[in-house]
Amino acid sequence: MLENLDKIKQQFHDELNAVESKGELEKIRVSFLGKKGLVTQELKNLRDLTPEEKKTAGMKVNSLKQEIEKAIVEHQKILEEREYLEEIKSAKVYDFTIPSSREVGTLHPITIIQKQIEDIFKTMGFIIEDGLEIQTEYNNFEAVNIPKNHPARDMQDTYYLENGQLLKTHTSAAQNTIMRKYGEPKKGEPLKVLFPGRCFRNENLDASHENTFFQLEGMMIGDDISISNLIYFMKVLLSEVFERDVKVRLRPGFFPFVEPGFELDINCAICGGDGCATCKQTGWLELLPCGMIHPNVLSMGGIDPDKYTGFAFGLGLTRLVMMKYNIKDIRMFNSGNLKQLRQFTR
Ligand SMILES: [Zn+2]
Repeated sequence: MLENLDKIKQQFHDELNAVESKGELEKIRVSFLGKKGLVTQELKNLRDLTPEEKKTAGMKVNSLKQEIEKAIVEHQKILEEREYLEEIKSAKVYDFTIPSSREVGTLHPITIIQKQIEDIFKTMGFIIEDGLEIQTEYNNFEAVNIPKNHPARDMQDTYYLENGQLLKTHTSAAQNTIMRKYGEPKKGEPLKVLFPGRCFRNENLDASHENTFFQLEGMMIGDDISISNLIYFMKVLLSEVFERDVKVRLRPGFFPFVEPGFELDINCAICGGDGCATCKQTGWLELLPCGMIHPNVLSMGGIDPDKYTGFAFGLGLTRLVMMKYNIKDIRMFNSGNLKQLRQFTR
């Protein structure tokens, strides 16, 4: 038996010297120390010995086992070090003392207008909130009064995740979370929140449809909020963005989350209201849906609709930027075409 151990030891060291990779090393470990390995077999053979023989032989086998374990760990370190050195050798070396010639980037036109609107609303006391892009079906639909089987759901086909959550189809998906976060407003201190965000729809792409677009939603809830508050904020917003005195008009519009609901139009900047191709000869351009928040939406958000009212508007930020800069094709925004995008940065 002891002779056998010497042979195993010799065989191990011969094989180890030839090892060039971690995979080969693992093979050797298995062939000596694995379940059916040579050393393991010797340990099993101890059973057949007398107690006296077992003592001496046992010590020898165990010391060989330890020697092999140690040698494998050491060899592993050598291989890792070699790998590391080769990696360094093949890596590019940058000289950080050479002055950089890279150009500084610019903000995306949508980001510029978003920040501009955020600044306007901040000065009017609005809080800016950031809604999640991945939402539950409840937040995106039920909580804004769009129950299952409601026709509005068909118009807002989106991307679903395997866990049943979805990519939000409108910024309104954040309404419920925001209402619950801030709770019922104190008297004379209405809740004023602005929440811009990226939205998604499963659309066939063309010049006016994209699978990704940006909205900017505003909400004001208090004890005596009315439509005149809504019109005031809209006029301030649009005059600032378009840098002119903007005329607005409200038309009745149906949206499940508001009651009453409106379509807000602005007078066409291209023809000044006389009628042109862009405004389809009407002199007006449809800009945003808005209205008084539906009582169901308030109560689902934990706010008593008998005590409080509020308005909400959902501005199509992408559409607004297209109108401001007279951009004809929505696909330009995500095109990554810097030459085009930089025309709009200031
Ligand atoms: Zn026009």
